[in-house]
Amino acid sequence: MTNNEKLAQLLFPDITKTPEDYEKIYPLRNLPEGARVTRFAPSPTGYLHIGGLFGALVDILTAQSTGGAAFLRIEDTDQKREIDDGVSAIVKGFDYFSVAFDEGVTGFGTEKGEYGPYTQSKRVEIYQTIAKSLVEKGLAYPCFCTADELTALREKQESEGALIKGYFGKYAKCRDLSFEEQEARIKAGESYVIRLRSQGDENKRIAFEDVIRGKIEMPENTIDEVLLKSDGIPTYHFAHVCDDHLMRTTHVIRGEEWISSVPKHIELFRACGYKLPKFAHTPQVLKIDEETGDKRKLSKRKDPEAAVSYFVDEGFPKESVLEYLLTLINSNFEDWRRANPREDISKFPFNLKKMSSSGCLFDLVKLNDVSKNVISVMSAAQVYENVAKWTEAADKDFCAVFTADPVYSTAVLNIDRECPKPRKDIAKWSEVKDYVSYLYNELYTADFRFDEKLDKADIKAILTKYLEVYDPADGKDEWFAKIKEMCEPLGFTPNVKEYKKTPEAFKGHVGDVSGVIRMAVTSRSNTPDLCAIMQLLGKDEVTARLNNAISTL
Ligand code: GLU
Repeated sequence: MTNNEKLAQLLFPDITKTPEDYEKIYPLRNLPEGARVTRFAPSPTGYLHIGGLFGALVDILTAQSTGGAAFLRIEDTDQKREIDDGVSAIVKGFDYFSVAFDEGVTGFGTEKGEYGPYTQSKRVEIYQTIAKSLVEKGLAYPCFCTADELTALREKQESEGALIKGYFGKYAKCRDLSFEEQEARIKAGESYVIRLRSQGDENKRIAFEDVIRGKIEMPENTIDEVLLKSDGIPTYHFAHVCDDHLMRTTHVIRGEEWISSVPKHIELFRACGYKLPKFAHTPQVLKIDEETGDKRKLSKRKDPEAAVSYFVDEGFPKESVLEYLLTLINSNFEDWRRANPREDISKFPFNLKKMSSSGCLFDLVKLNDVSKNVISVMSAAQVYENVAKWTEAADKDFCAVFTADPVYSTAVLNIDRECPKPRKDIAKWSEVKDYVSYLYNELYTADFRFDEKLDKADIKAILTKYLEVYDPADGKDEWFAKIKEMCEPLGFTPNVKEYKKTPEAFKGHVGDVSGVIRMAVTSRSNTPDLCAIMQLLGKDEVTARLNNAISTL
């Protein structure tokens, strides 16, 4: 037995498996050529960040568009950040958006797939097995330095103006301890971490091809990175390498904040004898700071919209949020959408290479516009269902009114919908109550604000005349023809162009006449098709509203 083998045995007496055993437990995936395996790997913070949803979408689209698989792995090795059941909120967030992984964690303590466990705290034996084999090969060693010693080292490097800071080379006190000393200190119960014995050369550079950013070159890693902490739990770097190898990830897609760690990871993959995965570093989701006007990261503390729950609470349809994220993910998405207005987003030919490498600006105004488009092409039945569901939790009173007569409410939502040019008035479910309130007597209060350029007497004359000719059976054409006919005798013109030419010749035009009727019936100056509205309200209600308006003049 070599000293390294003896050392490995001393450090890991309970580890009986070998890395080869795990190679067999987690065989190569049987996937078609070109299929990509991706993973989304959040820490269990009990919170799904919009940037997380963005990242997960990229993972899933990459896998889906190549016939591969995407899985959800929970990275809970950083005990400080962990909160009790930090997983459910993440899983629920994905569920709400119908973002489904092929494998991995499915809830607090549940998972599916052949490459599990998908929670890092349940894989400690794997990391220790691999660390043990690195010690056996002389590629890792125990480091007994205390926190005070490490602080002193940092201070020394700072005072010396060292270009590279950290535990490496001549600063790495424990790197070359004799086996006898290591043995004595382990047996004396000293606390230690396991470090990589870096083979890097500070004068050499390492290059890799980032799928999104192209070739990236950096100095080689020379730091003796911690692989296992003193409690035997791995660091992010080591767990990432072990997991992405054994879970057979082909594409490590993650936030750009990890780019600087790639040399470390490449060295670790090589030390373990693993094939390198492809790396793709996605841009951060940014916003314009209201105070400074500068771009900055969406912050959990400052920005309510950083949490995906914000969009749920506000009543944005999941389709809108996903659609908007896609516009950020691939700049050609919007062209595709224009060409395929009603196609499901899963049909979009996603291309990881086409992702922009600079930060994506998350813009709520743009989200609103996207959402209006998305809702405008939904069927009335779909909108009804969504509104009923959302208001059930968020606005029980409105929900009761809205769902009392589903046929009526669906008809209300169908005004100017399911037609070639649907209106784009609604961006989120929370706006529907206000949008439709005048169609429900329980919600409607008359509040007439007639156009100030019209005389009261003329308004009264219009409404009185209209009451005479009003027939609830009129279809759209007859309805409009009647309004046109009313114009001239009342001093208005049915011809808007004519009015524009000689405005002084008329009291107003046909639009003003219908505007008066609109205000009397709905208390609004802007509504969808008024004829359809009047048909839904019915004769008695329309007549009552017109008479009420006349009585106020
Ligand atoms: N757990 C890491 C994080 O939350 C994941 C990074 C990665 O995807 O590799 O940032």
